[in-house]
Amino acid sequence: MPCVRAPRTLLTSLAIALAAAASASALPVVAIDPGHGGADSGAVGILPPGAVTGLEPRFNTQLQPVLLEKDVNLDVANRLNAWLMARGFPTLMTRSTDNAGGDVPYTDVGSDLRARTNLANARPAEIFVSIHQNSAGTAASGTETYVKIGAPAPTQALAAAIQRSLVACLALTDRGVKERSFFVVRETTMPAVLVEGGFLSSPTDVALLAQPDFRQKMAEAIGGAVWSYAGLGDPGPVCSGAGAAAPPPVPKAVTVARAGRALTMRAGINPLKGDLWIVTVRDATGKPMSSIPLRARLPNGKGVSVTSRPDGKALLAVPRRTGRLAVAVAMPGIAVSATAQVPARPR
Ligand SMILES: [Zn+2]
Repeated sequence: MPCVRAPRTLLTSLAIALAAAASASALPVVAIDPGHGGADSGAVGILPPGAVTGLEPRFNTQLQPVLLEKDVNLDVANRLNAWLMARGFPTLMTRSTDNAGGDVPYTDVGSDLRARTNLANARPAEIFVSIHQNSAGTAASGTETYVKIGAPAPTQALAAAIQRSLVACLALTDRGVKERSFFVVRETTMPAVLVEGGFLSSPTDVALLAQPDFRQKMAEAIGGAVWSYAGLGDPGPVCSGAGAAAPPPVPKAVTVARAGRALTMRAGINPLKGDLWIVTVRDATGKPMSSIPLRARLPNGKGVSVTSRPDGKALLAVPRRTGRLAVAVAMPGIAVSATAQVPARPR
């Protein structure tokens, strides 16, 4: 360097900038592959009552709140992407929206998977991590990581590091590293692994996967393993889950009850053709909550939207037809619902 009398602070800043630039260019490109998307939901888990997921609310045909694998995978992938980018890793997301690989509408599994491996191979990425959640009988639980059959040593090392880190952070059963000819680990040209974080079919696993801080831990566990695999040493604390957003105050309970005759008459419902039902929304302390959007499915299969009033109540005109009345809170990330049996001839 020429003899320039630059202030010490400027030289120090320059040294840090040069070091950062050098380390950034040396860090491997990480492809993050959130499994499934769009019309392919992946595995489906039944959520426990009152679960606050921080994700788009999803319901099955019975309006039970459910957790979809595609949503969990994308959330973990977004968290992993943020963790890696904050540390200077160049990254590539094979999808960043609720779509197939390449963020295009889902058509078929073949083009979806091919789009994912094409993106990673074209960059080229130097590490490929596919994120999935498992499904089997309700008794199956735990974490496993897959590599292709006959995977070379670097791939095995990456998989072992990720599996070890996930088990340490998530504390689920260690189901080990396994070899399987999954498309995305077989058709990629770099060390590639497929993580199955937990089982959506397991009541215990699904209760954990529903929690934002658990998904943050999963992301940090994978990130920490990628950090170590890249030869950067100790990644520091990676199991905190502290980066997870605090959940907003949310409805905790929804009840459905048939209205009395006086209210029915006042509301102008023809008692021969229909009946009035009252939905009540409450917070964790039992206080009524106003302005909460609700979705209901009437016994005739018709869907309606209503909003709770200042007293926490919303009124539903329900046809006199026997069947189930199901009501759910229609707010992002909130899975609170209630059902009732509608008799054919009330009163
Ligand atoms: Zn999957």
